[in-house]
Amino acid sequence: GPQSSWQMSRQPFGDRFALVELINRTAEIDISRAHTDFVANASHELRTPLASIIGYVETLIDKSATIEPEQRERFLGIVLREARRLQELVADLMSLSQIEAEKHDQPREHVDLVALAGRAARDSAGAARHDRLRLGGQAAPLAVLGDPKQLEQLVRNLVDNALKYGAADSEVTVEVENDGRGMAVLKVRDRGDGIPSQHIPHLTRRFYRVDPGRSRAAGGTGLGLAIVKHIVERHRGRLDIASRVGEGTTVTVRLPIAS
Ligand code: ADP
Repeated sequence: GPQSSWQMSRQPFGDRFALVELINRTAEIDISRAHTDFVANASHELRTPLASIIGYVETLIDKSATIEPEQRERFLGIVLREARRLQELVADLMSLSQIEAEKHDQPREHVDLVALAGRAARDSAGAARHDRLRLGGQAAPLAVLGDPKQLEQLVRNLVDNALKYGAADSEVTVEVENDGRGMAVLKVRDRGDGIPSQHIPHLTRRFYRVDPGRSRAAGGTGLGLAIVKHIVERHRGRLDIASRVGEGTTVTVRLPIAS
């Protein structure tokens, strides 16, 4: 542990170097612990739907079991739902590792954030929820240096959460504005239950959920905001989450405007 590395390096390096060494090693330990936790969490998230799929398929192909047609239908529905959950999880895990792999390579394409946000938000709402979406902010184009695919994913994840956790039929607002100080400001606002403040600092952690049952029932992977955070970091931007219980949540992303 960190204690023993402190003891060991005390003699050869003296106190100052030992302290630097201690900090370095503690950081390493933290990173490897975070990695182990992540692998453990990811395995658990993958194992649960897999176990359910295997269980139901085993029952369905068991010749000695008598299964009513309605029950058969229901089991197949569960198998499909769990298989889709696996598909989403794998897609999100791949996105996350892709974004992380590119984190030092700053995106250079000029992207109009106003058009992109509108498009991605409509995409995310789809036909079924499009009447809940309100697009505001400026109409004039606003260019940022970005990776269009990742920025679309960022907007989709935020709008998806706002629709998912917003009260049924409540409005979700998406707007992009120039703050006049070199930043493009994207806001996604919902009138949902809001998030108790003690959870807010943890929301961008992988698989962190305020209400795991609700997230899973809504088809959430627990990776949406972790992906958003990584995309924002790669774009040298800022992410802020403000929320009031009983009122709703506003997520603000600031990205440098392309000169
Ligand atoms: P999930 O797939 O569970 O939605 P996210 O990483 O996107 O994962 O979000 C993490 C958690 O943050 C969610 O499980 C939910 O509890 C909370 N959350 C995210 N966005 C909102 C929102 N707009 N309103 C209320 N809670 C939210």
